[in-house]
Amino acid sequence: MSHVFPRNCHVQPPIAVGGEGVWLIDSEGRRYLDGSGGAAVSCLGHGDEQVIEAIKAQLDKLAFAHTGFLTSEPAEALADLLVAHAPGDLDRVYFVSGGSEATEAAIKLARQYWVEKGQSQRSRLIARRQSYHGNTIGALSAGGNEWRRQQFGPLLLDMSHIEPCYEYRNREEGETPEEYGIRAAEALREEIEQVGPETVMAFMAEPVVGATAGALPPAPGYFKHIRKICDEYGILLILDEVMCGMGRTGTLFACEQDDIAPDILCIAKGLGAGYQPIGAMLCSASVYDAVARGSGFFQHGHTYIGHPVATAAGLAVVSAILDRGLLPQVQAKGTALQQALEARFGQHPHVGDIRGRGLFRGIEIVADRATKAPFDPALKLAAKLKKAAFARGLICYPMSGTIDGQHGDHILLAPPFIISEDEMGQLIEKLAGAMDEVL
Ligand code: PLP
Repeated sequence: MSHVFPRNCHVQPPIAVGGEGVWLIDSEGRRYLDGSGGAAVSCLGHGDEQVIEAIKAQLDKLAFAHTGFLTSEPAEALADLLVAHAPGDLDRVYFVSGGSEATEAAIKLARQYWVEKGQSQRSRLIARRQSYHGNTIGALSAGGNEWRRQQFGPLLLDMSHIEPCYEYRNREEGETPEEYGIRAAEALREEIEQVGPETVMAFMAEPVVGATAGALPPAPGYFKHIRKICDEYGILLILDEVMCGMGRTGTLFACEQDDIAPDILCIAKGLGAGYQPIGAMLCSASVYDAVARGSGFFQHGHTYIGHPVATAAGLAVVSAILDRGLLPQVQAKGTALQQALEARFGQHPHVGDIRGRGLFRGIEIVADRATKAPFDPALKLAAKLKKAAFARGLICYPMSGTIDGQHGDHILLAPPFIISEDEMGQLIEKLAGAMDEVL
């Protein structure tokens, strides 16, 4: 009997013993095509020699130095590299160990920013339904993942949730994508006015929604209008690129494609590519200055922030993404994946939408294509698809989310950037087999 507390107590997962490129191998010798990079983590695939060597070299040199006393060479170099490529005036990098730590830190930094500026009445965060920002109490309060929130209601913080930008479901007949983008963004203004502009500290959103909506990109112009509204009211914009960042959508930062820059930006997953647990929160010079010129201390911190081995891994990963020319490859392969998915599933009676950016693609499963009605949640289709795909040697990320209070099923694909044409074909055939079995 295993003494590991698993994610799902009803399932005893196989034991992973190896990884080669886009494949994971279990102790029985079975091979799994990692079609979702775990959860959009393994962007470089498994067994990348350059990253492994960088980790080993750092371990030989220095494993740990507490950031209360010392900084380290890889942390300094990775911060320099991220800032050099970051949009806008993002200027400082606060390293953490994962996505929830990054979003939690962002929420607290936004609050402290306003306290430092003498506006301590600003404590409200506005986020969106159908979003996921992590599992710690602050991050969970910000997210709109009903399934993950349901048991913890009494513990969650009072935050606002506006409608997501969801063209497939919410764009009206006769409305252009651009017009819809503006209308969806205007929901932020309405909420700010509703709760009182003087009480709002920040708006938080994923540029391309991952787990809860299946690679849902914004309508054109949506985030430009969001940025404008934030500026009008002087509130901070926090972008959560934990899942969609680090090249996953074809640019190093997803928001580059929306031509905007946030005040605070969160990354994780692809930053360590699975080789080390690492996340980061980047903030603008003016947010940093408010703290630096005020109390001087960000009232936060975990033991492992800025870990030398984790930052050495992050440095090797980001260098690999940039130096190996992987970003144009993600764009080209992403287009090919979208076309192949449309060719294979475009006419499927239960496929409502196929969407995404780069190698971040989602399929929305519906009971009825005409009405877009989702399936009954009691059918647990997402879980069944995951199981059927896994039995065929495919790891993909089916998720149930909520669609305007109703249940909805999505499949998220986020393969490693190194996936070959042949492997992409195998991914689609295995997925088709699972869909045929379940739907
Ligand atoms: N934010 C987003 C957009 C995510 O997708 C996730 C995880 O899936 C998180 C935050 C939380 O990250 P972690 O699981 O590393 O804590």
